[in-house]
Amino acid sequence: MHHVLGARDLRQIEELWQSRWTNDPPAVAHDRGSNSEEQRFYLLDMLPYTSGELHIGHARLYTIGDALTRYRERLGCRVLHPIGWDAFGLPTDIAAQRLGTTPPALTQQCIAHMKPTLQRLGTRHDWSTEINTSAPEYYRWTQWLFLRLYEVGLAYRAEGPANWCPDCETVLANEQAVGGRCERCGALVQVRNMPQWFLRITRYGDALVDGLDDLPGWADKVKRMQRNWIGRESADGRVTYRLRDWSVSRQRYWGAPVPIVYCPACGMAAVPDDELPVMLPPPQTVGPFTGEPLAQVDEFVNTQCPRCGRPARRDTETLDTFVDSAWYYLRYVSPRHNLAPFCSEAAEACMPVDLYLGGVGAGLLRRAPAAGALCPPRG
Ligand SMILES: [Zn+2]
Ligand SMILES: [Zn+2]
Repeated sequence: MHHVLGARDLRQIEELWQSRWTNDPPAVAHDRGSNSEEQRFYLLDMLPYTSGELHIGHARLYTIGDALTRYRERLGCRVLHPIGWDAFGLPTDIAAQRLGTTPPALTQQCIAHMKPTLQRLGTRHDWSTEINTSAPEYYRWTQWLFLRLYEVGLAYRAEGPANWCPDCETVLANEQAVGGRCERCGALVQVRNMPQWFLRITRYGDALVDGLDDLPGWADKVKRMQRNWIGRESADGRVTYRLRDWSVSRQRYWGAPVPIVYCPACGMAAVPDDELPVMLPPPQTVGPFTGEPLAQVDEFVNTQCPRCGRPARRDTETLDTFVDSAWYYLRYVSPRHNLAPFCSEAAEACMPVDLYLGGVGAGLLRRAPAAGALCPPRG
């Protein structure tokens, strides 16, 4: 007869392996060592949103990453398998209000709840890489990257039609306005003409479509989705796209402030690099968290023009959270580097990403923080 494991045995097995894994962590991300390029493997998981609880979709995704990391290690690879938190954004902003707390406090609470759960899963992540996109040392570089795009005209301000949620009081991306309703609150989305910040992604329409042919191993379903999203059509020699420039303006608190200043004399001016990050005002200085909160904090708004030194006003919008999560794979190669978004030597050693796990295949959804998981019932 085979032996049936009891709860006591399982606890012992759990303790044994947890301590083995703790004492034998995976290769450190920025340890460049002397391994040749063939022995490296960069396995990138979609970084989790700080929703407050892990769900079965996370367990599924990170179990796949865990198995592949251990497999590659057995083959003698030095595997970079980083982990961090996608922490800014509308879901947390709204949930914080509902729970009577502030977005930064709720984010900390969510991480404090999710991190030990993920560690207990034993997913062989390199926790020394842990990043948080809402931390000033991260969003400093999100702002820095925005300014590089601004300098060459790839980030620009213009009036255009926007998806406006009257309840959330912010512009939404097309992906957040599904079927004409706000993904977060279900309100009917209005189309409003308003000035916004855009990233000029339409300039890369051709490169995006043509590049799909160079992606062996990608599911046809994903390639088809990409093609439909770009929507290139060649109406009699004139090429048109369904793709529109990306509106990254959000009229909410919980995002990276746009690092731009408006001067009555000079007009629009970029915040100098050595003054980054433009810090979010502390939550206790913010009145209501709706109605463009940053515009109501005088200490934040009032500043000096970086060109002429006269009184000027800061831009009071924040960047869409998808801007933060557009470049985290680069931050992971040198997560504590403080001279640039990433150390080019480390990027040289670790990039490109060998395998990305996430997206449509993984069944992961961005979710609002779950009230029940965090807070005891009131009253
Ligand atoms: Zn809404
Ligand atoms: Zn000026």
